[in-house]
Amino acid sequence: MTRSVPDAFEGLDPLVDLVQAFKRLPGVGPKSAQRLAFHLLQNDRQAATALGQSLLKAVAEIQHCARCNNFCHSQVCSICSDTRRNPGLLCVVETPADLAAIENTQTYRGYYYVLMGRASPLDGVHPESLDWPKLSERLGDESVSEVILATNFTNEGEATAVFLTDRIRRLGLKVSRLARGVPLGGELEYTDPSTVARALLDRRQLGNNDF
Ligand code: ZN
Repeated sequence: MTRSVPDAFEGLDPLVDLVQAFKRLPGVGPKSAQRLAFHLLQNDRQAATALGQSLLKAVAEIQHCARCNNFCHSQVCSICSDTRRNPGLLCVVETPADLAAIENTQTYRGYYYVLMGRASPLDGVHPESLDWPKLSERLGDESVSEVILATNFTNEGEATAVFLTDRIRRLGLKVSRLARGVPLGGELEYTDPSTVARALLDRRQLGNNDF
């Protein structure tokens, strides 16, 4: 196992804690965590202070929208508050970053629901653990007529779409899925806006034999 900090710094608890904190970030391994911590303390203490303050402020002030789960400052986000959007369309995405990817296409004018996760059976996250009651409540909004499943084309995203398709159909709503313009295994967050726009435009309605 890689040690958090070299032996020379053993006992410097704040340094060990800082390295551990960086290690919790996605894609940051032990070496990178140590490099980031050392960089901030060695070269850029001002940035370190600003980073700490920004983190505290964001955690304290950013909440989840009561209607769609997106990040927001108040109880309801600016998208859900925008009455010029089409209330018949509800696009279901995995994360706020995916919502941003759809918004970047500047072609979608419906509303959203952010799952804040996805089914990942291999990691022990079963579809049933998604917050279905909250989404179900949102779908109970009489004006929703079509649900666009914009979960990613990864195994987890597909498993989530399968689960949701079944549940949403039982509510008698039309369900569609993004077209395959998004590459297999692709994540919306990392796909260029024009491809996402095309996939949204070419979305296909899901029939009984899909999935
Ligand atoms: Zn919202």
